[in-house]
Amino acid sequence: MKSDKKQQKRISRREFVRGAGMGAAAIAGALGLPAINTEAQQRAAGIPQKWDLEADVVVLGSGATGLPAAIRARDAGASVILVETNYEVGGHGILNGGQVPLGGGTSAQKKHGIKDSPDLLFQDLTDWSVVETNGMPEYRFNDRGVQRALADNEAQAFEFLLENGVVFADIPPGGGGGHAIGISAPRENYAKWDKGQSAESPRGGGGAGIYRPLEASARSKGVRFLLNYHMDAIFRESPASGRVLGIQASYTPKFLPGSSTPMKSFRSDGNIQMTALTVTVKAKKAIIVATGGSSGNVNFRRIFDPRLTEELQLAGEPFSTQDASGEIAAMAIGASLWGTANQTLERNGAIRKRDLVGAQYLYAGWMPDSPVFPLARATGLKVRDWQTLILVNQVGKRFYDETAEGWPYGTHYGFLKPYNQGDWRNARRIKYAPNNFQDAALAPNEGSVVPDFSAGPTWAIFDADAVKREKWDVRPPFTDPLFFFSANALRELAAQIKKNPFTKVEMPGANLEATVARYNAIVDFGYDPDFEKPTPKYKIQTPPFYAAWASLEIHDTYAGLRINMKCQVVDMKGQVIPGLYCGGESAGGCSQHGQGRCITQGYIAGNQAASEPSWDEKL
Ligand SMILES: Cc1cc2nc3c(=O)[nH]c(=O)nc-3n(C[C@H](O)[C@H](O)[C@H](O)COP(=O)(O)OP(=O)(O)OC[C@H]3O[C@@H](n4cnc5c(N)ncnc54)[C@H](O)[C@@H]3O)c2cc1C
Repeated sequence: MKSDKKQQKRISRREFVRGAGMGAAAIAGALGLPAINTEAQQRAAGIPQKWDLEADVVVLGSGATGLPAAIRARDAGASVILVETNYEVGGHGILNGGQVPLGGGTSAQKKHGIKDSPDLLFQDLTDWSVVETNGMPEYRFNDRGVQRALADNEAQAFEFLLENGVVFADIPPGGGGGHAIGISAPRENYAKWDKGQSAESPRGGGGAGIYRPLEASARSKGVRFLLNYHMDAIFRESPASGRVLGIQASYTPKFLPGSSTPMKSFRSDGNIQMTALTVTVKAKKAIIVATGGSSGNVNFRRIFDPRLTEELQLAGEPFSTQDASGEIAAMAIGASLWGTANQTLERNGAIRKRDLVGAQYLYAGWMPDSPVFPLARATGLKVRDWQTLILVNQVGKRFYDETAEGWPYGTHYGFLKPYNQGDWRNARRIKYAPNNFQDAALAPNEGSVVPDFSAGPTWAIFDADAVKREKWDVRPPFTDPLFFFSANALRELAAQIKKNPFTKVEMPGANLEATVARYNAIVDFGYDPDFEKPTPKYKIQTPPFYAAWASLEIHDTYAGLRINMKCQVVDMKGQVIPGLYCGGESAGGCSQHGQGRCITQGYIAGNQAASEPSWDEKL
């Protein structure tokens, strides 16, 4: 807080410019500031004449990047407002499994005798010689500066988590470490959560064991939370030059079906209470984009991969989405995208085949205890044995071996024996596997029509015997009536599917009948000449027959805004946008899966943002 004396002394930049009788640009130049607009210019550019709220650092998003960024900036003495569109903090972070890939010489690695260093980590993260089991390069297209910054800061970020209340299982770090092949040391740490799904932990995963302690720390240190507000625009002095000034956000309360009361966060201390439809927040030092990526925005994600049409759902929904708003707002003021190849390389679990069917949201396994269950509507049915069913495309045809895995994301430390950094022989040591279930699922078929030639949804087809084998209860809330259908005849079943909101073409009943008849013959024959499903076991013959939603889920965003080693956002001319920072899944140049990079970039960005000059106090 500033003293009254200081407040009196301070005159706004606008008043200064108006009173001085000289050109704004000249004044700014004399003061070593970027050119400032006149009031009329500001109005024309849409820059607010009045700010509803202000802080030194405004963090956009309260997930794996935003919470560390906010704490770090506050630790460095900055006042911080964290703007979050959701009713609750945590984003994808609080939903996650609590596995945290952080290495480079952490205290946990040292304690368990694991040798690691920033140099070793950097070499791993930029090793050109590593390819995944489907031949896709893991690290080749990373930005080397961004990786160096990660390598140099990961161990510190790990200690920062401990200092802010996160407790990890006291076991040696594991081999996952971001799910890649070229890993020279075990780097995965495990935060635990054994209390299940609840308002405190919407998905009941280990992520709550990380982000609840970080939230508590942020609140106790004085970070203020503006929940239920979606950042829509970032203001910059002029559209393509000058520093960032603040943001505009709109009110986005979340309601459960049939309720007119907005959902409430688990904790409320430190929440800023507002219900205005739009608010402006001045950022005196910096803005940190920590909005979690773009994979929930159909048009934006199709910039990278045109196959990803609307039927593909997103792993964190319906709790938290990734709508590309951070990227779009930053691009509107000149920011560049970066490292886009990483998004299209078919590896690292970017798009996943799930082992749940029959509900819209198949990733999280939403249970009735979760506060978002009324939005998720169904738990889904867990598939224990892929022999029990067939998968068909939107026109009722099989497209791949149902038991197949998808793109690789389960590879790890020790997978490549031996792994020698930068050794061309690494690629020779890979046991290549096609792993292209996803490609087949996304391929055009007879139902693909103009303009997108979308592959459409994938359906699991099975019969009453399968329900018994898997011990499924197929009634709601285990299944969703718009994503799960049954009928006594296959033709009738195919006709039911058109009730699904993502179904664009009617599945021909004759196709489904022919597919099932052929599959039953394949079971009798004992060999699958179409897709070589190993020893197909069960016929689909006992009514009722079922069709359960089984479409792919998108998991990660691997491309985003161009940043440098300080997490400053860089524009299309290669220049830093003063005061603008980004980290996590909204940042580009990094192929590493998961929260390790997000936490580390939040840590870096928070640190840097707090050290920016304050633009209105300079006068
Ligand atoms: C189910 C699941 C399990 C996972 N398991 C693991 C795991 O075990 N280990 C691992 O390392 N990684 C895991 N991940 C991935 C990891 O959680 C993410 O990579 C990480 O959370 C991304 O961090 P982020 O800060 O970029 O985005 P998020 O954590 O998603 O945070 C972004 C936040 O920004 C908010 N936001 C978005 N737009 C706006 C806007 N315009 N204005 C205001 N707020 C906005 C969002 O609501 C969200 O709260 C998992 C992810 C999911 C979904």
